Amino acid sequence: MPRTGLVFHPAALKHICGHPDHPEQPRRIEAIRAHLERTGLAARLDEHAPLPADRSLIELAHDHGLLDLLERMDADGGGQIDLDTGMGPGSLEATLRGSQGGVDAADRVLRGEWSSALVCMRPPGHHATTRQPMGFCLTNHVAVAARWAVRQAGVERVAVIDWDAHHGNGTQDIFWSDPTVLYVSLHQFPWYPGTGDATERGEGDGFGCTVNVPLPAGAAEDAYEQAFDEVIEPAVRAFDPGLVLVSAGFDAHYLDPLCMMRLGAGAFFRFTQRAARWGPGPVCVLEGGYDFEALAWSAAATVSALLGEAQAIGIPEEEVAPMSGSPEAVRWVERAAWMQRAADR
Ligand SMILES: [Zn+2]
Repeated sequence: MPRTGLVFHPAALKHICGHPDHPEQPRRIEAIRAHLERTGLAARLDEHAPLPADRSLIELAHDHGLLDLLERMDADGGGQIDLDTGMGPGSLEATLRGSQGGVDAADRVLRGEWSSALVCMRPPGHHATTRQPMGFCLTNHVAVAARWAVRQAGVERVAVIDWDAHHGNGTQDIFWSDPTVLYVSLHQFPWYPGTGDATERGEGDGFGCTVNVPLPAGAAEDAYEQAFDEVIEPAVRAFDPGLVLVSAGFDAHYLDPLCMMRLGAGAFFRFTQRAARWGPGPVCVLEGGYDFEALAWSAAATVSALLGEAQAIGIPEEEVAPMSGSPEAVRWVERAAWMQRAADR
């Protein structure tokens, strides 16, 4: 019987994103791991500690200059890359192990050893573009895993679903003209990093393989459900992926201090259940999520779905049922769905 994997290495706790009080901090991972232990979920997972990815793996998704920059900064003991993205002495190792972790999880799923996995590493990855680390991200873990699956594991098509509350501009950039990877994102808009309008759909051979569902601040689960039903699920089913990866950010939780969406932890249980029906996987890779309790609950909800539980374990009673009621966001989704259908005709 294939197991559900948990990818973790203590290097994830050594990365400091510029300063200790940064919202993207080690306590995020500590909160998730403590809650998985407390709920008994951790004991049911097959834990794996990844090695650091080597250069050839990172360069499947990134220009060589990106790693040159990270190595130079690492040799200096760290520093600031931009206003909100920094490195400390352990940062390069942490991100390289995170990227290798995504590949290892995909490999185990493709070989049938694992049915699915949560990659519980940091820094996150989905803002890192081909050339540029940014937005708390150094290397793009889902992008490296997707490219590895296509180039080195013989998977014809990979779907990446991104429900972090921010648009994954890095993943979009890397696969912009690539027809082998479907990138689908639901995100608060307009919001950091500014990209992710529904009109951004890829180009050349990759046109139509980028699908953005921008949502207004305050969007709740009714809008997300509508987006899954009318835009995302039809797109993924038509694409027929041989591997499903999820950029599993939890900052669309209503308690999150950086975003303004209104999901409860139970939403991530239902989203993960859906993704599990779309192809081999999912491999859920942790992205954002900055309220420690909400993050722990949402990760437990995700793991519950990966384990095939009938309901989410370890979340507050009041967050089990969908938190809905965002008619304006539903209208946005209807418009995006209409535009999508019009463009496809
Ligand atoms: Zn985010």
